[in-house]
Amino acid sequence: MKKPQHCVVFDLDGTLTRKRPKGAPLFNIVDDVMPEVAKKAMYAMREKYEEIEKTRGLTANDSINWFLEGLVVMSGVGFTVKEAEHAILNSSSADAREGVKKCFQHLKSLSIPIAVVSFGVAPFIRAFLKRNDLTSLVDRIYGVEFITDHNDRIVDHHGHTIVHPENKDFWSRQFADEWGIAHDKILAVGDSTGDRRLGHHKHLRIGVAHDEQEKAHLQPHMGHVVITYDFTPVHNWLLTHINQQEE
Ligand SMILES: [Mg+2]
Repeated sequence: MKKPQHCVVFDLDGTLTRKRPKGAPLFNIVDDVMPEVAKKAMYAMREKYEEIEKTRGLTANDSINWFLEGLVVMSGVGFTVKEAEHAILNSSSADAREGVKKCFQHLKSLSIPIAVVSFGVAPFIRAFLKRNDLTSLVDRIYGVEFITDHNDRIVDHHGHTIVHPENKDFWSRQFADEWGIAHDKILAVGDSTGDRRLGHHKHLRIGVAHDEQEKAHLQPHMGHVVITYDFTPVHNWLLTHINQQEE
C-alpha cells in the first residue's frame, strides 16, 4: 500500500458534533448529569472563562486552570467516568454531524491517518466515537486522560496528556511525526478560535461556522471557512487538497 503523504487532525466539539446553538455539546451533556451543585459550578466556570476569552483571549494557563477547576468540581462530588460515558452514549446531542462517517471512511480508504485533537477529555472522546461508530476509523486521540480510584471516581489527571488551544499544533505535529508525514501535509478541521493552532499551516486549516458572523470571526485563523450543517463541504475541501498535492 502506498505510504500516505497526508494526515488529518480534527477538533471534536462543535466540529464533529453539531453546534446547538454554539459551543460544546459534549461538555454540556456531561455537566447535565452531574449533581446539581457541581452542574452549577461547571456552568459558572464556563461563563467566567468564556468572558475572559471574549475580552482578552485565553492564555495556555487560563485553559489549564479551567480544566483543573473542573477537575476539582468533578472529584469533589465523586463523579465517575462511567457516568459521563453513559450520558454521552445515550444523548442525541452527541451525534456526529451528517457526513462525518462517510468522510472518515473515505480518508481511511486512501490510507490517510486521522486524529482527534481536542481540548477535552479522552474517555469522553472515546464515548463519542463509540456512539457514532467511528472508533475503528480514528488512529489517535489527543485529549486529557483521567486518573480514577478503584470505584472509577475521577481523582486526578495525567499532566502530560493535556491538550489546549495553545498546544494543538504541538500534538498535530506529534501525530504527523508518528506517521513520518511532513508537517506541511497536515490538514486540519476546526470550528472555533480555539483551533487557531490546530494542524500546522493556516492555509491547510478549514473552519466550520454556523453563520456569517462566526465565519467572519474565524476567517483570520483559517485558510478557508464554510458555513455548513453537514460535513460535505469539509469532505470536499480535504479531497481537493489531498488530490492536488499527491500528483
Ligand atoms: Mg470546537
